[in-house]
Amino acid sequence: MHTKIIVTIGPSTRDKHILIGLIQRGVRIFRLNFSHGSADDFKEIFNRIREVEKETGTSLTILQDLSGPKIRTGDLKESPMTVNAGDEIYMGPSEFQDEHSQYIPFDHPNILADIDMGDIVRVSDGGLKFEVTGLSKKAVRLRAEDTGIISSRKGVSFPGIKTSISALTDKDKIDLVEGLKLGIDAVALSFVQDPEDIAEAKDIIEEQGKWIPVVAKLEREIALNRLEEIIDISDAVMVARGDLGLECPLPSLPTLQKRIISSCNDAATPVIVATQMLLSMVHNPMPTRAETTDIANAVLDGADCLMLSEETAIGQYPLECVGYMGEIAEEAEKLFFEKGSSPVKPGREGGETFLAFAACLMAQKVNAKALVAHTDSGFTARLISSCRPIQPIYGLSPNVNMQKYMNFSWGVTSINIPEEPQDHLLRTEKFVENNPDFISGDKLVITAGHPKLGQERSLTNLLKIYRK
Ligand code: ATP
Ligand code: MG
Ligand code: MG
Repeated sequence: MHTKIIVTIGPSTRDKHILIGLIQRGVRIFRLNFSHGSADDFKEIFNRIREVEKETGTSLTILQDLSGPKIRTGDLKESPMTVNAGDEIYMGPSEFQDEHSQYIPFDHPNILADIDMGDIVRVSDGGLKFEVTGLSKKAVRLRAEDTGIISSRKGVSFPGIKTSISALTDKDKIDLVEGLKLGIDAVALSFVQDPEDIAEAKDIIEEQGKWIPVVAKLEREIALNRLEEIIDISDAVMVARGDLGLECPLPSLPTLQKRIISSCNDAATPVIVATQMLLSMVHNPMPTRAETTDIANAVLDGADCLMLSEETAIGQYPLECVGYMGEIAEEAEKLFFEKGSSPVKPGREGGETFLAFAACLMAQKVNAKALVAHTDSGFTARLISSCRPIQPIYGLSPNVNMQKYMNFSWGVTSINIPEEPQDHLLRTEKFVENNPDFISGDKLVITAGHPKLGQERSLTNLLKIYRK
């Protein structure tokens, strides 16, 4: 399988045997959602993932997802709480929870003060709609327009009310620093508005003396105005369909997904499709027909990674979810290769881009077993990946951060390679010789940087057909 699967870790996926099961089904990226915990809370699971990483000998990327300025319900007395259409229920500060039989604790007094009669409130990430029917100093009264359940810490939105919010909250800044100390491999920023939000996160990471990839979660309509710039500064992008679907008209969500993916593909920036990919499998062992089609379409749109959220965090069938997702993605890839087995011409210009494309064409012509890219920055591996070759891509880097980053790229198996011998080409050939994936007689297409005399290193400038 070329497409990557990202799994959100939660109560359903804490056990070691489940983690191993996920890895066996191809998962290489684990998401920890800091909306539901702090670095301290995630320490145990973090260490368990590292342990499993060592035991299985697979490179695993731990992705910290920062909560951002998302407004949520507080801790309900009884979670979940059932609401029926027509119910009159109250929403307000936690301290008044005991005064009402049905109450949504909500500790954002400044937002409550901005609400007017007749305003709409959406709870559970848009799942339930309410109308404001009463205002008092203590709490607002809402009339439910839908039937469903509300749980603690679910998203609340106010479609009519515009708030200007910065993507990195004080909590996020603390979480990021604590996460870096813990050793996270990548960070996702929620509710990104502009490239400056990403720059701010990059500054904090640099201040800590580190480099990790920053993923921009596109879930605000305003971010789309500066899409190209955001893609340019970000190391990966996520189509975060949950909140994006609340901010933008729902009918435009499928085309927005396609536009964002296409721009990312052109820039050779890894792109993730997230939210509700297998939502029905939280409680069912099989997906709906629409879900199978959504996954296949995301792959055909050009997604590098597909992400699971509650399906694996709190769902009953985390392993089955990954199993289905992988099989569906693989079928979609088959169709993609049937349609055109030639590599895709990259969207960028430049020598490095053309070299990557040429490597893919060469791999096709000589019927290579794989493409092997030695890469310091991961750039060549990303460029090759963006050409979507049928052959597997081995991305070799002596830099562990880059190795973890390459897990986001479609079709790339990322390898941390020792820094000897000095010559990158020889280093790569040594890797091929020692790797049991390749047998004698196999042809491989190698790319590497070969410095001129007197130079220490060079950008990728060499393409070689190698026979084992
Ligand atoms: P976001 O908008 O950032 O995606 P979310 O609330 O939708 O936030 P997800 O990570 O998408 O969170 O997961 C979906 C649901 O799974 C959450 O609402 C929460 O109920 C549950 N969940 C996720 N992570 C955890 C966790 N670590 N512990 C407990 N429950 C979790
Ligand atoms: Mg979030
Ligand atoms: Mg979510």
